Amino acid sequence: METWQEVLKSNSIKSLEALAAKFGPEHFPDLDRLRQAAENFEFRISPAMVDIIKSPDDPIWRQYVPTVEELDIRDGIVDSLNEDADSPVPNITHRYPDRALFLVSPVCASYCRFCTRRRKVGDPEKIPMSQFESAFQYLEQHTEIRDVIMSGGDPLLLNDRRLEAILTRLRAIPHLQIIRIGSRVPCHLPERITPELTDMLKRFHPLFINTHFNHPDELTAAAVAGLGRLADAGIPLGCQTVLLKGVNDDPDVMKELMQRLLMARVRPYYIYMADQVAGAEHFRTTVQTGIKVMEALRGWTSGLANPHFVIDAPGGGGKIPLLPEYVVSMTDEEVVLRNFRGERYVYRQPREDGVVGIRKGSKRASRSRRKTA
Ligand SMILES: *Cc1c(COP(=O)(O)O)cnc(C)c1O
Repeated sequence: METWQEVLKSNSIKSLEALAAKFGPEHFPDLDRLRQAAENFEFRISPAMVDIIKSPDDPIWRQYVPTVEELDIRDGIVDSLNEDADSPVPNITHRYPDRALFLVSPVCASYCRFCTRRRKVGDPEKIPMSQFESAFQYLEQHTEIRDVIMSGGDPLLLNDRRLEAILTRLRAIPHLQIIRIGSRVPCHLPERITPELTDMLKRFHPLFINTHFNHPDELTAAAVAGLGRLADAGIPLGCQTVLLKGVNDDPDVMKELMQRLLMARVRPYYIYMADQVAGAEHFRTTVQTGIKVMEALRGWTSGLANPHFVIDAPGGGGKIPLLPEYVVSMTDEEVVLRNFRGERYVYRQPREDGVVGIRKGSKRASRSRRKTA
C-alpha cells in the first residue's frame, strides 16, 4: 500500500462516534437522525480536512459533516443535472457537441455533503469499473468528441497503474485532442500528488486538471506544494468552486480564495451556483448573492481572479453563464455601459455604411470622406 493510501485508510474520520469523540458529543444532539443522513450518503473526512476544521459549523465542517438538514427535501432533485438521461453507455455523459464526461472512479478522499453526484458516489457498485469497455468503445466511435473529462468520484484515487492504463487507452484515440481530469485530491489528500504520479501524468499532454477549492483555508502548505508539483509537470490547473451558504457566500472570502488560488498557480475556471440536489438544499444561496460576489471581483482584482459564474441548469441544460449587468442600454448607434465603479461610459457603434461615427462638429470631415469612398 502506498503512503497516501495508508494515510487515507488510517487517519480519516469515518464515523459519527469518532467525530463526537474529537469535537465533543454536545455538537451531535440528534444522533439518530444524523445517523440516517450519514447513511443516505457516504461519510468520510480525509486527514487534511480534519486538520483544518477550527470549530463546529465553520466553513470546512459545513462541507463534510452530515447534518439533519440533509433529510429536509423541498425542491431538491436526485439527479438534478439529468446526467443519467444523457448517458448513452454506462459511465459516459455526452451532453455537448464535442466533449464528454467519463466517470472513472466511484470514490473520493472526503465526501462533500453538497455533492451533485451523491446518487452515485461512495458506492463502488454505482460506477461499475467492470463496464469501462463500452465507454472506451463509445469514445472511439464518436469522432466528434475531442475533449474527454475524467471525473467520478475522484479519478486521482485510482492507483497509478490503473490511471496510466486509462490514459494510455484514451491517448490511443486519435480524435481526442485533450484530456481533462477533475479532482479534489490536491485539496483533500495532497499526499497523493507524488513525483511518481506527476512523472506519469506528464506523458499524456495536453492534459488539464480542474481542481476544486471552496475556502481560502483549504490552501494549506501541503496543498500548495501538491499543486506546484502538478504545475511543474506542465499541467494547466483550473478550479471549479461552488458557491455555498456559510462557506464562501461572501465577496471578501471569495476574493481571497481566488487570489490564493493564483498564488498556488491555479487559474479559477468556474464558480457554480449550488445545484438543486436533494439532500444538499441547505447549501443553496440566491443568484443575487452570486452576482454580488462576481461584481466584487471584476475590476477590483486581477482579471485572472475572475472565473466564469455559471448555473449548471437543472434538467440537463448544461452550464449557463451569468454576469452582473454592465450594459445600461444598447441601440444601433451606441451602447451605454457602467464600469465596475458604477460610472457611465458610452461606446459608439460602427456605422452600417462603414463610415466611422463622427461626433458633432465634424460633419465636414464626414462629407469629404464619403466623397472619396
Ligand atoms: C461541465 C461538463 C462538461 C465540460 O464543460 P466545459 O464548459 O467545457 O468545461 C462536459 N460534459 C458535461 C456533462 C459537463 O457537465
